[in-house]
Amino acid sequence: MSLKIEINKCLQGYNTLALAARAAYFCCVSDHQQIQDALAFAQSKSLAVIPLGAGSNVVLASDVDGLVIYLDLRGVTVKDAVDTAEDSVDVTFQAGEDWHEMVSYSLAQGWYGLENLSLIPGNMGAAAIQNIGAYGVELSDILISLKVVDIESGQLLTLTTEECQFSYRNSVFKQSLKDKCIITEVTLRLSTKPVINLEYPALTHYFDDQLAVPTPSMVSEAVCNIRRSKLPDPNELPNVGSFFKNPVISAVSFKSLERQFEANDVKVPGYVQSGGAVKVPAGWLVEQCQFKGVRQGSAGVHKDQALVLVNYNDSMTGDCGKDILGLAADIQRMVAAKFCIDLDIEPRIYGSL
Ligand SMILES: Cc1cc2nc3c(=O)[nH]c(=O)nc-3n(C[C@H](O)[C@H](O)[C@H](O)COP(=O)(O)OP(=O)(O)OC[C@H]3O[C@@H](n4cnc5c(N)ncnc54)[C@H](O)[C@@H]3O)c2cc1C
Repeated sequence: MSLKIEINKCLQGYNTLALAARAAYFCCVSDHQQIQDALAFAQSKSLAVIPLGAGSNVVLASDVDGLVIYLDLRGVTVKDAVDTAEDSVDVTFQAGEDWHEMVSYSLAQGWYGLENLSLIPGNMGAAAIQNIGAYGVELSDILISLKVVDIESGQLLTLTTEECQFSYRNSVFKQSLKDKCIITEVTLRLSTKPVINLEYPALTHYFDDQLAVPTPSMVSEAVCNIRRSKLPDPNELPNVGSFFKNPVISAVSFKSLERQFEANDVKVPGYVQSGGAVKVPAGWLVEQCQFKGVRQGSAGVHKDQALVLVNYNDSMTGDCGKDILGLAADIQRMVAAKFCIDLDIEPRIYGSL
């Protein structure tokens, strides 16, 4: 099918913050030829290329200059059993498939390992960008390779997990390969035997009264229930989930943070990482700065979840992206002043501030 390029396209329906920014150029690609055509178009006009999935991890601060390519590649394929290790199956998901739908689909096939990542919004291709993670599991635990198209040369390349350089909410696609490639498919190694991971405290507690080991479907359902009880649905209240990464601070800094709260008898939450550094929940820090429920212009901090910034303005007008980023900057300043901790923004920001 020939490629349709749209001009001055409104992206409000293409990002979960529902920001009404416009893309100078926009196209939707559903096969490899269309990707090549889109890249050729961008090159002919010297346009920046911005791949887009479900828009659940982007903040469109203003109109976007360049060609936004919406990835709509679909399909799931399974590698021959003879090639894969015993008790596992290698499954390739095209970039445009919806993450949660694929978690449910995998469960139905008897392929396990994705349960703890249930209900994360977004598409398969984008999952690798920040190495999505939740409830004790990260994409890097199950991904074995992925395919990318190099934006400059148009070449199709395969990257192994090692080459993706995954770490907490990070990968090579946020570092040396930032803006350099389009992920077209990811291959995950899933288990054909149930793998139950209940290490994450909220999940452990969920099954406190359960005597038998839960099934993978029960774990998925539990994760969905916990997530629904904690996070606002972007369809009802536009948001991008966690707005800040959880900072990892040195053991010495964590001790001094604990001392800061000693007098008030408050226990500072912290999770010791390998190497001794401590991960502190960013939401807790934001809450300590009294931002929960605060509203500035069209932006707000969710009333129950301090880590989630929301857009209260669903009209096509106003500087909502700037309001969101202004509020985020105020939070960062306050947290830095109070705790000497720098909060990093998790979603990718596009457009000018
Ligand atoms: C309510 C809510 C809860 C969330 N919970 C979690 C959570 O628990 N854990 C977690 O890790 N994240 C979470 N997120 C963040 C988000 O769901 C993930 O980052 C998701 O992977 C983003 O997918 P997407 O398709 O929406 O990406 P987009 O928002 O469309 O894109 C994000 C970035 O990836 C790039 N990109 C997208 N697709 C491709 C591609 N095919 N090739 C190259 N680059 C691409 C974009 O250019 C952009 O820079 C949450 C978000 C929301 C709204």
